[in-house]
Amino acid sequence: MSMHVIAVGITIPIAVVSLLAAASVSAQSLVISRAGSRPVRPAPPQNFTGAVQVEMLFDAVDPSHASGGTVTFAPRARTAWHTHPRGQILVITDGVGRVQRWGDPVEEVRAGDVVRIPAGQKHWHGASPHAAMTHLAISEHRDGSTVQWLELVSDEQYHAAVRAEQDSPPQSRPVPGRPSGEVQPRVAPGMATLTDDVLFGDVWRRPELSPRDRSLVTITVLIATGKAAVLSGHLNRALDNGVLPSEASGVLAHLAVYAGWPSAVAALEAYDQVYATRKVDTATLRVADDRLAASAADAARATGLTASVGAVAPKFAQLTNDVVFGDLWRRRDLSLRDRSLVTIVALAAMGDDEHLEFYVDRGRESGLTREQVAEALTHLGFYAGWSRAARAMTAIARLPSR
Ligand code: MN
Repeated sequence: MSMHVIAVGITIPIAVVSLLAAASVSAQSLVISRAGSRPVRPAPPQNFTGAVQVEMLFDAVDPSHASGGTVTFAPRARTAWHTHPRGQILVITDGVGRVQRWGDPVEEVRAGDVVRIPAGQKHWHGASPHAAMTHLAISEHRDGSTVQWLELVSDEQYHAAVRAEQDSPPQSRPVPGRPSGEVQPRVAPGMATLTDDVLFGDVWRRPELSPRDRSLVTITVLIATGKAAVLSGHLNRALDNGVLPSEASGVLAHLAVYAGWPSAVAALEAYDQVYATRKVDTATLRVADDRLAASAADAARATGLTASVGAVAPKFAQLTNDVVFGDLWRRRDLSLRDRSLVTIVALAAMGDDEHLEFYVDRGRESGLTREQVAEALTHLGFYAGWSRAARAMTAIARLPSR
């Protein structure tokens, strides 16, 4: 059994401090334990019901007695009944959970809530029946012990009635940090679960594509498919995730060409609002007049286009060569790689898988990998609909891997 399950746990390794105590007044370095470097372990089944994961964040190091860990409970999972010799603080960081002191009704807790467990009080904590819950747990040891375990919480005890909140019912309370917001859990709880647990809890966090790229993908889909009504929230998120205002505006110009002017025009108001609210200096949106070098494949592409449609539509061929590829694609407000990503996503969102190969190749020239394209299309499924993603994925899967 792990010796590290302290916050919720069993025993505590008393830090080897006596040897260091004499040196404690001299300068000591800060200790940074990096995100992702700490093990995440299942909690011991004799003291927990259901799937529970524990990430120990910090041990007690003298003279501090406090240790802390992050504990994630799957729906219906919970601790056994237990007490803490010096009490415990729980900071609910995600989801919806339950907590109960022996003899009191069960209470519902949500992201942002903080629970103080007084010393010696018999209690349990865990997830709600329908949603996972994560809390930060901080406790101080006494004589090396942070917890005294008692019997498991029975199903009857777990499913006992939850105490109604005094002021407002929990269902209508906006939950900080819950992407589903206030309306979804009330009107469409099944959708809210998908929004919180799958879309934002899993897909947006996948490392295969950065949050910045996901934001580029998302605003591209919303603009290309005319969903300007929900654009402002995602444009804000995009800027938070590191998309520059000049890049966001570059996406708009690019999509005017690829999705049509009305789609870009419909997005202008959201851009204007978000830029105004964030006090974006619109002078920074003007890009340098000089252009990126022409793509290596452009000359061949231009010749091919002139040969195929030049006779029937010479103006279209000229605009395609001079404006689309000669100017738009060579502007400096978006990198070639980002421009390729935006184009692929826009085409896929609009159901055009015929031209994907050309742009996937173009993206590859500038470092966009097929894995990133596949991840972008997976992400797109949530914003353009699953069938658009599936169509595009089929087209991508046909391409030879180079
Ligand atoms: Mn506890």
